[in-house]
Amino acid sequence: MKSTERREKLVSWLEKVGTLSLSEMVDYFGVSKMTIHRDLDWLVQNKALKRIHGGAACIERPSGQLPDNSFDRLSLLKCLICNRPPSQQLLYTITLRNGEQKVACCPHCGISAHLMLGDQVVTALTADFLSGRLHSAQHSYYVMEGVVAYCCKPSILTFDDEEMALRFQKGFGGTLGRFNDAIAFLKKDMSLHNPEGCPHCSSLSRKEE
Ligand SMILES: [Zn+2]
Ligand SMILES: [Zn+2]
Repeated sequence: MKSTERREKLVSWLEKVGTLSLSEMVDYFGVSKMTIHRDLDWLVQNKALKRIHGGAACIERPSGQLPDNSFDRLSLLKCLICNRPPSQQLLYTITLRNGEQKVACCPHCGISAHLMLGDQVVTALTADFLSGRLHSAQHSYYVMEGVVAYCCKPSILTFDDEEMALRFQKGFGGTLGRFNDAIAFLKKDMSLHNPEGCPHCSSLSRKEE
């Protein structure tokens, strides 16, 4: 497992449980204490967590609660790329280094945001297209450019289960890939059309103005 992947997993795990001990992290990731210490140092520097005696704790939000990834709250935010309200099935959410949480209307805009924000992104979650369940964007399965475009074009849909993604792709076309494939796919698409961003998104937001 790459360090970036492990750090991202660590943060999302911590956000679920609140605190973790050093030995829990060592056991889970099967790496040395030194490695975990380095991860924690890096994550502390990037304000993704704080260190406590013998382990790490999730950063307290202003409300003193765990980050609330409920759709009710996130649906109040607008897409950071095209300003559209997100839908539960397509939601993509990004946490930045400064702790700010951003929302994208669909994985298309979510991936565009990665291209735009680069290493300011600490964690990203995406909804499973069938269940709406949020899961790690790095580990999701991406169906790109299927025949049905539910939001922005070219469409990108995410699935937390490989088999479901494969079934969907068989039924509705498109290409199946992982996070890096989706990044590469959108990069190529953007360079073909418009270096500013998704042409579909930008024309839509212009029309609404
Ligand atoms: Zn959007
Ligand atoms: Zn969209």
